[in-house]
Amino acid sequence: MKHQAPRGTRDLLPGEVERWQWAEDRARGVLGRYGYREIRTPMFEEYELFARTSGESSDVVQKEMYRFKDLGDRDLALRPEGTAGVCRAYLEHGLGGKGRIHRLWYMGAMFRYGRPQKGRYRQFSQIGAEVIGTAEPGADVEMIALFVDVFEAWGFGELNVLLNSVGTPESRRAYGDALRGWLDPVASRLSPDSQERLVRNPLRVLDTKHPTDLAILRGEEGGLEVATMPRMLDVLDDESRLHFDGVRRGLDAAGIRYELDHGLVRGLDYYTRTAFEVHDRSLGAQSALGGGGRYDGLIEALGGPATPGVGFSIGLDRAILAIEERGDAAMDSAPAVFVVSMDTTRDAALALVRTLRRSMPAIADLEARGFGAQMKAAGKSGARFMVLLGEDEWQRGEVVVKDLASGEQSNVPASGLSDRLQAAAETIHER
Ligand code: AMP
Repeated sequence: MKHQAPRGTRDLLPGEVERWQWAEDRARGVLGRYGYREIRTPMFEEYELFARTSGESSDVVQKEMYRFKDLGDRDLALRPEGTAGVCRAYLEHGLGGKGRIHRLWYMGAMFRYGRPQKGRYRQFSQIGAEVIGTAEPGADVEMIALFVDVFEAWGFGELNVLLNSVGTPESRRAYGDALRGWLDPVASRLSPDSQERLVRNPLRVLDTKHPTDLAILRGEEGGLEVATMPRMLDVLDDESRLHFDGVRRGLDAAGIRYELDHGLVRGLDYYTRTAFEVHDRSLGAQSALGGGGRYDGLIEALGGPATPGVGFSIGLDRAILAIEERGDAAMDSAPAVFVVSMDTTRDAALALVRTLRRSMPAIADLEARGFGAQMKAAGKSGARFMVLLGEDEWQRGEVVVKDLASGEQSNVPASGLSDRLQAAAETIHER
């Protein structure tokens, strides 16, 4: 074969795409009911935007960026995540002056130059939401409720939300120092990557995906006493602690289950205070389905006025893998009706199928094949009903409707056909 999709990308073929559409539609429904509005930003932005927001020391910026110069010598990058672009647009269009609180969502392709494996691609899709304009814990609670409800709409049962607070940049520095001290005895055994992180940004060591590092962090390779791992919550500044208490109270009141995870630090630098994630064990190492948190310093870092925000993003590829793994994905998109005609009724069938299509999925033969070949195709199509336009019946203003599931067939007047089939087709479609 001459050409293949680039490494780390994939084609979604018909059959698979229906599952994506189903997941996207369900998510859109929840987002709409929460009062969030869609925003669409470009798939590429100035490189600097991501460098400034995700942080120079983040994996995304250091190793995974699709950075390129265009023919006008502009320094650009394919977006690795959605929040930076949304905040850039928020500032560029002065949304802050057009209402205090903005509830936004986005969906689309993101790009990261990572090592491809199951659940990890170079082009992948995220659904994300943001509340910009308030630092109140209520916004964090709403965000986590929305996050959980999107998964619920996808049929995930009780989710275990992992929760932490990463405080302010100051409390994070204090935590970084404590972490450095704790990791010091094993520093020389960590991967070169983690050793470098230990110097530049110790919190990132907790984010490592290196198997040996992970084992050391779990206390398996000896040396580290997991129970003594410093906790962010112990060095949190008073305001962050009050905020975190408010978030926890709100989650309890809303009936959202969560578990504190003292090692949860998000991958990007702009997070402050609340951080949360959801994992799925069926996905192995690439288990994070989604996560989010507060980013009170981000808009200011982009040169705007101090504007708090909180958001999440969910990886659609992984969520859909997990849905498939569950094995109850019944999202067939077979036509409801297959119209079969003869030479003499072919023109009539053209008009009829067009009428049917106003209210239900219907198809007809494209190739003027014989009656038998068409019936066979109808059987294979997965259609629920076959509508036959026989010459004699058509002369009498009738068609034959055969229920391909039960095998029953009857003659019905052609004029009321659409209405007659619609009710049945709708119930099939909703299945
Ligand atoms: P992050 O912005 O890194 O927190 O990513 C949010 C979510 O996007 C993750 O929980 C994953 O579900 C998904 N994700 C991140 N990177 C990839 C990737 N390379 N391939 C597929 N999904 C990804």
